This record gives sequence, structure tokens and C-alpha cells, in this order.
Amino acid sequence: MARVIAMLNQKGGVGKTTSAVNLAAAFAARGLRTCMIDLDPQAHMTLHVGLDGEEVDCTVYDILVDPDRSIDEAIVSVDERLDAIVAETDLAAAESELAEQSDRQDILARKFAAVADRFDVVMIDCPPSLGLLTLNALAMADEVFVPMQAHFLALQGVGKLLETVGLVCRSVNPALEVTGVVLCMHEKQTNLAREVVDDLDTFFTESRDSNVPWRHCRVLQPPIRRNIKLAEAPSFGQTIFQYDSACRGATDYAALADDVLAQWNDGPPKDVESPTDAEPDKPVEHDPAEISGGA
Ligand code: ADP
Ligand code: MG
Repeated sequence: MARVIAMLNQKGGVGKTTSAVNLAAAFAARGLRTCMIDLDPQAHMTLHVGLDGEEVDCTVYDILVDPDRSIDEAIVSVDERLDAIVAETDLAAAESELAEQSDRQDILARKFAAVADRFDVVMIDCPPSLGLLTLNALAMADEVFVPMQAHFLALQGVGKLLETVGLVCRSVNPALEVTGVVLCMHEKQTNLAREVVDDLDTFFTESRDSNVPWRHCRVLQPPIRRNIKLAEAPSFGQTIFQYDSACRGATDYAALADDVLAQWNDGPPKDVESPTDAEPDKPVEHDPAEISGGA
């Protein structure tokens, strides 16, 4: 069964799409069969991988509003082991078109179940809101990653954000957990960034024994440094590994994927096959050439 991650933060411009695309590409390069789903009507994820929702016959909009469209029809190949279900701007209308339908929060989850065993991991890019589209993502997700910038929220803000996310999680999918914060556009050298990271670590450590959906959450490593290549790649319709596999952005997302995989392999119940099984004791080397070669 696929492990499903939703990239969620109700703020825009925090690094959701950049992280969803490049983490998905890094997973695919590590050998995982990966599907990315664009649930944002801005269709930034779709554009980032060089696709145009207007030209794809079956998009996530069709999946949501048309009971006769099957998920199979919507899966588009992006690269080796990397598939996508794309968005078009029409997707914004799904919310009102489905307003009367009682099972509207679970449509994507139900349809995706038909192909779930074809993938090891699914990465969903959410819109910057907590409306019906996001609820469809959360209903099928196992875990939530929250991308944010360290200087962008003080600790209180993080708590509020997690509470909101937690409430939504609980209402649609009680098993859902917030498992990771991805620090994006990170500027390590600043005191503020360092303080916020320390505060976050303390906050999560203190949450370990409480019954909150983020009690297993941690700050994923490494933080993603600010790197202009990450901002350039989308306009070429390329993942960072296709665009410049040697840049810091590629190195950071490759290392982030390894951090997530290491946690999955160590951690409780979830089981994803390790692409590094051959050398179990060796730390994974983040050779950007290696990751671009596979993808
Ligand atoms: P969201 O999906 O949350 O709205 P994006 O992933 O689109 O956020 O990121 C917002 C903007 O910041 C985009 O222009 C993106 O290219 C840029 N960006 C994201 N991460 C980085 C980074 N690490 N370094 C430089 N620019 C980045
Ligand atoms: Mg986005």
C-alpha cells in the first residue's frame, strides 16, 4: 500500500509545491514508485513538472466531479517511477459543484484506493486553504508535512497552525498524523532562524506524551536552503534534479528524502522498502549525480 503524504500549510508561498515536487522526485530517484497529486487550482505542481492541465484529458477535477471517470485515466507519467495526477484551474469550481454531495470529502481517497498498490509513496500538494480540496487530501493521507520558513512564524504561530491542522485532521481522518516540518528557504546563519528551530524542537519534544496529532512530529533534516535554482526550475517545467542535479537545492531535497526514508525504516508500523538495503550500515551519501541519473 502506498504511503500518502499531504504537504499542508494554509499560507501560500511557504514552499509546499517546491517541496512536494522535489521530494517526490527524490523518492522516485531512490527507487520508490511515486505518484504526485496536484490539488491546488493554481496548478503549480502540474506546471513544475512541465505539464498543462488544459491538455490532459482527465485531471483531478474530473476525478472529483465525474463519478464515471476512474483514477487510472488520470495518471500521467512524468519520469521513471514518477507519475502525476494533474490539476487545471477548473478545479476551483469543484468545491461548489460538490457542495450538495454528502461523501464529498472522501471522493479522492475512494477512487485512489483502486491503484494504491501500484505506488510506494504518494505526495499531495494542497492549496493554501482548508477547504474541500484539502479535506480530500487529508482523508487519504497517512501523514502531513508542514513546510514553513523559520523566520515566518514565531513559536506561538506554529502551535496555532498545528492546532488548526490537527482539528481538521481529526474531523476527516482520525488516524492522520503531522509527522514533519520542512524548513524552506532557510537561512541557517541568522540568529532568528536558529532560535525558531530550537523552539520548534523543544515544542515537539514536549508534545511527545500528549494526545495530539503532532506528537510524532519533528523538524525534518536538513533544512532546505534558499537556492535560486529551486525558484528557476518550475519555469523550465523540470524538477530540481532534472534542472541542475548538482545545486544545493538538489542536494538538500535528496538528503531530506533520505531522512524521511531512514525514519520510515526505523520507525513504528509503516513499512516502505529501503532503496539503500544493499548497504544497511552505511550512511547514505548525497551524491546529486546519482539521484539525477536514476530519475
Ligand atoms: P507554496 O506552494 O507554499 O505557495 P512554493 O513552493 O510555490 O510555495 O514557493 C513559493 C516561492 O518560493 C516560489 O516562487 C518558489 O520557487 C520559491 N522557493 C521555494 N523554496 C525555495 C528555496 N529553497 N529557495 C529559493 N526559492 C524558493
Ligand atoms: Mg503551491
